[in-house]
Amino acid sequence: MAYFEMAKTVLKSVLHGPATIRYPAQPAKITPISRGHVTIDPSTCISCGMCMRKCPSDAICVSREEKTWEIDVLRCHVCNCCVEVCPVHCLTMETQYSSAVTVHEGRHLVKITYVKPERPAKPEAGPKESAGSS
Ligand code: SF4
Ligand code: SF4
Repeated sequence: MAYFEMAKTVLKSVLHGPATIRYPAQPAKITPISRGHVTIDPSTCISCGMCMRKCPSDAICVSREEKTWEIDVLRCHVCNCCVEVCPVHCLTMETQYSSAVTVHEGRHLVKITYVKPERPAKPEAGPKESAGSS
């Protein structure tokens, strides 16, 4: 019975051709929900580190002191977790796959350019009225 099932599968594959494509020689099929790679808008990142703490594969490193955000694309398994937790929505899951890289090219360092807006100065308190004056 198992041989029959196997023969059926083999015959189906022979008749219909391979289910896979010759990527990257042949372009991959991209859909609106395809998960390609994570990108950041460095002008809105507030260096909170939430993405780094939630990443299950330790692919992200955020340095508040050096104002840098770094991703190791070889560790990232495109789970989308960092994109979902970012409080300011500065991370995006692009649908295009990133190019193949070697272990030396896998880390992408981005300089964070966000500048915290200055708080408006508090209005100066006027002279206190003396107690009991009327
Ligand atoms: S997509 Fe997932 S694995 Fe990749 S950096 Fe974000 S949280 Fe980490
Ligand atoms: S990318 Fe988003 S979650 Fe990560 S440090 Fe910047 S603001 Fe925080």
